[in-house]
Amino acid sequence: MIEWERYQVDRRYFTATGKHGVIERFPTICPNGHPLGPDTMLVAAHPCLCISHGHRIWRCWTCDAVWTRPPCSRHPEWTPWSG
Ligand SMILES: [Zn+2]
Ligand SMILES: [Zn+2]
Repeated sequence: MIEWERYQVDRRYFTATGKHGVIERFPTICPNGHPLGPDTMLVAAHPCLCISHGHRIWRCWTCDAVWTRPPCSRHPEWTPWSG
């Protein structure tokens, strides 16, 4: 079983797989209800002054709405994703 403390990841956002693996979880619908998948969203890492390791963001190709984790104080228009 995964020793979560060693990975320094928030387990709300990751799923354990196999003996030592983790898979990053992601939202399946955008804040406006469009389905999200490999062909319908942009997944990006967003460096930011508000947090040392930056944000994960998911942008909907359909409407440009953005989920982010953790929440961003500089982009209040981005919807925080809580896993
Ligand atoms: Zn959308
Ligand atoms: Zn930020």
